[in-house]
Amino acid sequence: MRNELDVPLAYSSPQNPVIITCAITGHRTTRAMAPVPFTPEEQAIEAEGAVAAGASVIHLHVREDDGGECFRVDRYEAAIKAILARVPDVIIEISTRGTNAVGVDTGHTLALTPKMWGARAELKPELCSLNPGSLNLGDAIFCNSPPDVAAQAARIYENGLMPECDIFDVGQLESVLELVRRGVLHLPMRLLFVLGSQGGVSASPRNLLHMVEMVPAGVSWTVLGTGRFNFPTAAIGIALGGHVRTGFEDTTYIAPGVKAKSNAELVARLARMAEDYGRPVATPEQAREIIGLKRRANGQSFAPMKYVA
Ligand code: ZN
Repeated sequence: MRNELDVPLAYSSPQNPVIITCAITGHRTTRAMAPVPFTPEEQAIEAEGAVAAGASVIHLHVREDDGGECFRVDRYEAAIKAILARVPDVIIEISTRGTNAVGVDTGHTLALTPKMWGARAELKPELCSLNPGSLNLGDAIFCNSPPDVAAQAARIYENGLMPECDIFDVGQLESVLELVRRGVLHLPMRLLFVLGSQGGVSASPRNLLHMVEMVPAGVSWTVLGTGRFNFPTAAIGIALGGHVRTGFEDTTYIAPGVKAKSNAELVARLARMAEDYGRPVATPEQAREIIGLKRRANGQSFAPMKYVA
């Protein structure tokens, strides 16, 4: 079987290590919902616990001390510095919350200005989320126009980062593949399938399988189910050879009706699931190998990956 790009399917070996990503904070989880970290030091402590439990990637939003949403570059820098001081090997993925989210101060794109990370090699994220399409999310419009997506992709590459394309629906994956064909996006990249959002694709095995069958070979994919779908969806992702994500951005429950005490507790459950299935938990170095981050040359760009026929 071949997919739309006429390359072999992306099922990786079911024995491959599982990359666990932990979204420790998110942009809207409140203290009423979970003991979510807001300050850089709180985030560093939570990241350290998550890494000890098996996470190799930290997906990072920053917040003000009172929990308010924040897009300031200095706040990102402070958070990354604090996290790397405790867990120097971890992979950091920053989020910019889309390109033009309606109802959000558009200053958020300041989190990724041209070449802003270029001079900060020692204090640098490796991945940056990219939202390749628009859709209704809950009661809001999540708006990422094609020109904005292309501009954001260019900023990501200018900064020497690899994009993680956040896929909320099948059509968004089609759009990403088209952007690869046009040369706007390059392989390797990372794909994140978000299942269970209101307005996005629902968290069914069939939906995930359909999207996985379209993934080009050699491209790593991660899946997250929102809320109560987090662990059931992770089980399917692990079985299909993919990678998984959890954290207070995605879910605040460790079991039905039972709140999680920490991000580490959520990560530990995914680690147990992977190991019970027979897949080891990836170290950060293994994760870099699997994602393709080691292809990054001179800290600025990635050696392009050819499609494998
Ligand atoms: Zn996020």
